[in-house]
Formats: sequence, structure tokens, C-alpha cells
Amino acid sequence: MTATVHGFQTQVTKLLDLLANSLYSNKEVFLRELVSNASDAIDKLHFMSLTNQDLIKDDPNFKIQIKADKDAKTLTITDNGIGMTLDEANSHLGTIAESGTEDFMKKLTGDAKKDSQLIGQFGVGFYSSFIVADKVTVVSRSVNAKESEGVRWESDGNGTFSSENVAVPFRGTQIILHIKDSETEFLDTWKLRDCITKYSDHISTPVELYEEKYEPVAETKDGEEKKETEKKFEYTQVNNAKAIWTRAPKEITDEEYNEFYKHISRDYQEPLAHIHNKVEGDLEYTSLLYIPKQAPWDLYNREGGEHGLKLYVQRVFIMDKAESFLPNYLRFIKGLVDTNALPLNISRELLQETAVTRKLKKALTKRALGMISTLAKDKEKYSLFYKQFGNVLKEGPVEDYDNKDAILKLLRYASTNADSSALDVSFEDYIARMKEGQDKIYYITAESYEAAKNSPYLEDLKNKGIEVLLMWERVDEWLMGNVSEFEGKEFVCANSQDLKLGKLADEETKKKQENAATENKELVERFKKALGDQVKDVVVSTRLVESPSCVISDSSRMMTMQMRRLIEASGQTMPDEKYTLELNPEHKLVQKAFGQTDDARFNQYAQLIYEQALLADQGALKDPSTFVKAMNALLTED
Ligand code: ADP
Ligand code: MG
Repeated sequence: MTATVHGFQTQVTKLLDLLANSLYSNKEVFLRELVSNASDAIDKLHFMSLTNQDLIKDDPNFKIQIKADKDAKTLTITDNGIGMTLDEANSHLGTIAESGTEDFMKKLTGDAKKDSQLIGQFGVGFYSSFIVADKVTVVSRSVNAKESEGVRWESDGNGTFSSENVAVPFRGTQIILHIKDSETEFLDTWKLRDCITKYSDHISTPVELYEEKYEPVAETKDGEEKKETEKKFEYTQVNNAKAIWTRAPKEITDEEYNEFYKHISRDYQEPLAHIHNKVEGDLEYTSLLYIPKQAPWDLYNREGGEHGLKLYVQRVFIMDKAESFLPNYLRFIKGLVDTNALPLNISRELLQETAVTRKLKKALTKRALGMISTLAKDKEKYSLFYKQFGNVLKEGPVEDYDNKDAILKLLRYASTNADSSALDVSFEDYIARMKEGQDKIYYITAESYEAAKNSPYLEDLKNKGIEVLLMWERVDEWLMGNVSEFEGKEFVCANSQDLKLGKLADEETKKKQENAATENKELVERFKKALGDQVKDVVVSTRLVESPSCVISDSSRMMTMQMRRLIEASGQTMPDEKYTLELNPEHKLVQKAFGQTDDARFNQYAQLIYEQALLADQGALKDPSTFVKAMNALLTED
């Protein structure tokens, strides 16, 4: 068979150009990628061999071997894992399917300088070989293939690769890197040893390096010891090949934890936090969980996303992305669980149904929440975390009722207490500084921080010195519509008709409220008449201080304007909602309107006062141009 030439997927070509032209500051990571792939290939075969020992009977000892040849200028990484067929090599080594890489590609700006910095943040897998090699040859034989069905794949990284079937006498994959003249340091065994220890120590497969052994020459005849040595090369195991999670946590350094994270997550950045637990007793398991620094591109892609933990049973890798061990709102957590309580041949489907999985899920959820709440003690790190994952966490109190309070404790909001949009007030902070006599948690949801902060609904609460939490993420409105209290304190939205002020509503205000209604009867009637059935009702406000008016909706009604918009955006039509108009009789504009003797003129004022309240509440009007015309007419009147 002669080799067929294929073009790389366009994205691959772009990526390769970028790699070739960028000054890659951390070149040695190619070795991590290749060793990582070899280890994955071995894990896959190990798993298959559990049910079919025959697969590995010719070559039962899994290992990864690394050999440099200074004369040929090649560096070869060999594994006896699952191998690849010709089709697999063509598709796996010619396209980009891996999510991390896709994310990377999406973020490319076209500006070579910026883009090359990005490479440092994402794993680019196999293609990183071209950082140090000007030609890469892959020789492989799939575990399912005969000797004659081996594969030879080759590319110089310039847009095309060639591949063909050749006879391959061994099972597994050999990656031969033809090292660039400028990168020959990667042919030095000391350099390789250095990299391997750094990147592979946690890998449970032995990684062997072909290196020189110095052996003292035997004593000479006359009894004189000669210090001379003889050069001899052989494979020596370099890593300790003990799965990191089986070791005692106190013996593991942060660097080791971080390296292992990079291996399992394909993330190039260090994690924000980790938690490692070995649990004995009824349900034995070991878990090692991490919080990434950055949200993956598919965080909101619940279906096809790269979520879930790695599952090991008795230290044997069973599957990736096992989603059943953590609830959806913790889908950003990376890591693994290793347990003796599941059978080795457990399938993905069965896994979802067993009681052990449910128990593990409960336990791991607690661990993960514990890790997050520990992280919360570090304000700086927590704010990094919260920016990335806060909104996902907000799905939690509804999804996982058992942990509702634990999750609510982790949420942070801006508040009227501070002058910035920084998210740093927790419900616990809020409760701790509530006013005497206050037993409700007040919040407001709006389109933006500014809209929330300046909302007219807050005027009276602000005057009373009552703190209000400011929320402006879409998910907040949904969340607050679905939780009613935290630690016995009811949530009350500042735009509801009844603020349930209880003891905080001073007698004076109460009286004022009662009197206001009778005193302003005529005003109210005039507005009602002018606005007709556009409004549900017109009432006199005691909460407005600076604004002439606001609109309110029934406090029992969950849906506010933001919700409505969400629904309308999804294509459904919503029946028109009627609001109650609240008037501030002390406000100049309202008084000016009331002073109009001409009914038509008064109606214009009434309409304007009503519509500006709608505008302030909803950020938009159905018919803005009529509103603007009416406003201009009144502004220019003599
Ligand atoms: P990733 O490992 O994230 O999938 P890579 O670019 O590192 O991305 O590798 C692409 C694919 O090539 C792998 O998913 C795997 O299918 C295949 N592959 C790479 N190296 C090996 C190997 N040593 N043995 C078998 N398959 C391999
Ligand atoms: Mg890889």
C-alpha cells in the first residue's frame, strides 16, 4: 500500500501554523501531552482487558518508554496501549474534536502575539509535538488489528499528513519526533528525566527512560580498583508510578496535585482548590476533586458537555465523564472517585441506577460544597471563583433542596450598603447586620447593577436604613422566585406591594399611609380616570421619595419583567400585564400635573407619569416614540 496524502482540517492547519510561529515559552509541555495520551491509551486497554484477558496476553506489562537518539535526532515515545487503526489515526490525528482545543480555537484573535499567549492556557494535545519537531511519524497497531494492519502516519505539520497500512510487529503506539535543530536539548537524557519527573510522576503506568548506566568495571587482576566506567544504555523507570490518590494526602505536594489536575482536566492552568479524601467504613471510596480557575466553554451545555468525574474501581480506570456522581450545578468540578463498592464491569447506564452511586453522589456533593466554602474564606480567590461559577451555583438551591442552605450560604451579592457592584455580601453577612426588628431579607432584581441600585422601589427602604441586596443576573430572578427563605428569614422583593416591614414600619408612616389615601382621593381618582384600564389600580405611595411614580405588580406573582422578556425571547407570547401605579403626591411633577385645569393636558401628564414608571421598571416601552412625543410636547409648552 502506498501512503495516501490527506489535508488537515482547516482548524488544525491554523493551529499548527500558530504553534510553528509562536515563541512557545513552555516547550516541554509536548512531553506531558504525549505521555498523557500514552497513559490514556493504556487505561483504555486495561479496562477492556478486565473482561478479556486474551487481549493483552502477548504483552501484559503496561508501560510507556521514552528513547532519544542523538545521531538520528529523534525522540520516540512508545506505549503498549490500545493503539489506532488507519481510520482512527486519520480522524484522531487529523481533526480537532477535543473540547479544550475547540475552546482555544474560538478564542483566537488573529493577532499572533496575543494568540501565542493563549497557547499557554490550553492544551493542544498531540499537535504540540510540532513545537519541537519538524516531522512526526506515528507507528501504531490497534489491539483489534492483525500485524499486517498496522499504521504509519506522518506529517511535517505543513497542512497535510500521509498515512498507510504497514506491518507493525507490536501492539500500541510509537510517536517518533524528528527534533528541530533548535530543540536538540530534548535529546539529552537529563533534560528528559527532568521533564518526565515533573509531568508523569502521578501517572500509574511506569514511564521508562532509555538512559546511560554507569557501572564500575570489575577489579583488575593486580587488585587495583579502577574508577573507570563503561557506557551502557538501558530502560529505567523514572516515575514512581503510584496513582496519586492512593498516597497519603500529607505526603503529596501542591505541585503534584496541580500536575495531576492538568493531566486529568486537560487544563493548562493550575486549579483554584482541591480536596482529597479517603473514606473507610460502609462505603469505601477515595475522591480527589478540583475547582478549575476558568469555566469551560461548554459550562452551560448540559447535554453534550464535558462534565463529570473519572471513575476508577479498585484503582482501575473505568470511565471518563461519569456524570452521576455530582449534581448538575457542580458540573464544573473536575476530579476522580475510586471505589471498591462498584463492580469492575459497571456500565454507564447501570451506574446511574445503583444505590452506591446515589450514596457516593451525596457524599461527593458534601465534599465539593465543603471545598467551595473553604475557598470562600479567601476573598480574592473566591471572587475569581464566583465570577466563573457563581451563576451555575445558583441553580443549586432549587436542584438540590437538601443542600439548599449550604448553597445559599455560598452566594454573594452587591448591596445598598456599598457603593460598588462587587459581589461580596452573603446572606449571612446580611442577617448579621440587619436592623433591630427586621426579620426579612430585602432584595431587588433588575436589568443591571445601575438599574438595581437606582431603583425607585428602594427609596423608602434606603431612608429607613434597611440594606437591600442588588441582583441583576437573569438566574437571580428565577432563583428568588423559587426560594422563600434563608435560615428562617423570608426573602422579600423590594418591588412587591407589601414590603412586610412589620415593626420597621413606624406608626407615623402607617398613619401617613392611611391619611394619604383619604387626603389624595381626588388626585387618585383623576389619574384613574385618565389612565382607564391601562392600569390595574392607582394608589398613593409612602415609599417614594425622589421619584414621582413607580409601578408595582402583585407580590404573589412570580413573574417580573425580566422573566417575561426571557419567555418572550423564546418565542412565546405573553398576555399583557396590568400594573398598579403608585404615586408620590409630594413630588413636583405630580403636583404640577394635579394643578392642570385642562383635562386633556392633565391626561398627557398622567400618561407621561405612568409610562416613565414603566420605563424605569422595565427598561423599555411598547411604544417609545409616542412617549417621547408626549414628553416633548410637555417640555416645550409655554
Ligand atoms: P486528546 O488526548 O485530548 O483527545 P490529543 O490531540 O492529545 O487529544 O489526541 C487526539 C486523539 O488521538 C486521542 O483522543 C486518541 O484517540 C488518539 N491518540 C493520541 N495518542 C494516542 C496513543 N498514544 N494511543 C492511542 N491513541 C492515541
Ligand atoms: Mg491528549
